[in-house]
Amino acid sequence: MERAFVYVIVGGGVAAGYAAHEFVKRGVSHGELCIISEESVAPYERPALSKGFLLPEDPARLPSFHCCVGSNEEKLTPKWYKEHGIELILNTQVKSADVKSKMLLIATGETISYKILIVATGARPLKLEETGVRGSDAANVCYLRDLADAEKLVNVMQSSSGGNAIVLGGGYIGMECAASLAINKLKVTMVLPRAHCMARLFTPKIASYYEEFYKSKGVKFVKGTVLTSFDFNTEGKVTAANLSDGSKLPADMVVIGIGIHPNTSLFEGQLTLEKGGIKVNYRMQSSNTSVYAVGDVAAFPVKFFGETRRRLEHVDSARKTARHAVAAIMEPKKTGEFDYLPFFYSKIFTLSWQFYGENIGEVFHFGDFSGKTFGAYWIHNGHLVGSFLEGGTKEQYEAIAQATRLKPAIEDLTELERQGLGFALSV
Ligand code: FAD
Ligand code: NDP
Repeated sequence: MERAFVYVIVGGGVAAGYAAHEFVKRGVSHGELCIISEESVAPYERPALSKGFLLPEDPARLPSFHCCVGSNEEKLTPKWYKEHGIELILNTQVKSADVKSKMLLIATGETISYKILIVATGARPLKLEETGVRGSDAANVCYLRDLADAEKLVNVMQSSSGGNAIVLGGGYIGMECAASLAINKLKVTMVLPRAHCMARLFTPKIASYYEEFYKSKGVKFVKGTVLTSFDFNTEGKVTAANLSDGSKLPADMVVIGIGIHPNTSLFEGQLTLEKGGIKVNYRMQSSNTSVYAVGDVAAFPVKFFGETRRRLEHVDSARKTARHAVAAIMEPKKTGEFDYLPFFYSKIFTLSWQFYGENIGEVFHFGDFSGKTFGAYWIHNGHLVGSFLEGGTKEQYEAIAQATRLKPAIEDLTELERQGLGFALSV
């Protein structure tokens, strides 16, 4: 059977949810839009999975975190899609795409044709096997990308109560899951390949603050080493992790967060790829004018970075690239070039930080690193290009965002250091 739509979105994650919302705001007609997702539920705010979803008390559960509650807008439940005449095809993988004939083959055997396609396929976790280690399929080894992963993680966490949890990777998943595991009273050891956590963003001074905080919550750190193999029991469960420094850590459960790969395989050989993702222009349009890409899978030009293309694996860029693509599709003449200020954040334990811009150049720390509010500025070629703040108020976060966007010239570095947060508030 063949079905035809004007607009089709492949993928049912954050970007798909925000794109659907934007289509409705801009007046899409009933029956014109279809979303195809291999997940079993309507698009939701993925960040909840490593935070509220893992709480021991009153955990977040759907439908409470469907898109677009993350940006304080309406909640798009399955009923919302129905009411707006949007076809939501769930539990269904797109098996192949032919961009020349504008046709998709889905797992049911049906074909879906489109006039405009939005690729919002996100990314998949990098598997242990891709680093030469066996064990991903063990019942007590967890990844965290989708709802099914989060449900497994909760079950494994509950059945390992009071036991040893090993977290591999010191990036976003590692940090947020380690905090949640500690809140759930597991004995957590983080295994990091580098000298400190969040090595791609944090300075050693910033990392040290968070590591000390984690240690005060019982989390241990093993640094500068990687997993070489697991020990298994007769049921195939992991019982210990063997590390490259020769040590062995006992394990009741393992969480792995060692990075992701964008889901581009449907389009390889058909669309131009860059930075591991689908190359798009300022309108989020790929090398085929009928195909747009948004969210984690899109490599888009970032004016703030001097127009170089980047793939940003964060929820704010997923939401905004999705909205921009829909604006460019529905109202091309009224839609300018996408101009994005990179924004990353995290919430762990009682802590909360935000970062805007780019972490290149010289770093100047400010504030009270033994207290609750501190931060850092990055100065490159005499201009402020990046700002980090822990424990800020809404107004303070807005101030560092605004100051960073303006890239002000910094003439007196000593004065900048002296003013600290006051500098951003005065720009
Ligand atoms: P996704 O949300 O991953 O959606 C991709 C969708 O495509 C999925 O539904 C997938 O099943 C579907 N799909 C893929 N291939 C196919 C196919 N062939 N057929 C059908 N469907 C397909 N970012 C932040 O900035 N702050 C945070 O606090 C934060 N927390 C996070 C916590 C977790 C646990 C995770 C995993 C990510 C977090 N992120 C966070 C990152 C953020 O969630 C992602 O950047 C965002 O989800 C990207 O949106 P997306 O729509 O591009 O991809
Ligand atoms: P990240 O890229 O954030 O971090 C991966 C970490 O794993 C890095 O510390 C990396 O070290 C380390 N690593 C790489 N290879 C190995 C290895 N073989 N053994 C041990 N460690 C290794 O990816 P995550 O998996 O943490 O997160 C996945 C995705 O989810 C990302 O897109 C992230 O943006 C998103 N996410 C975002 C959140 C947020 O924005 N708050 C929260 C949760 C997830 P190195 O730096 O040396 O390469």
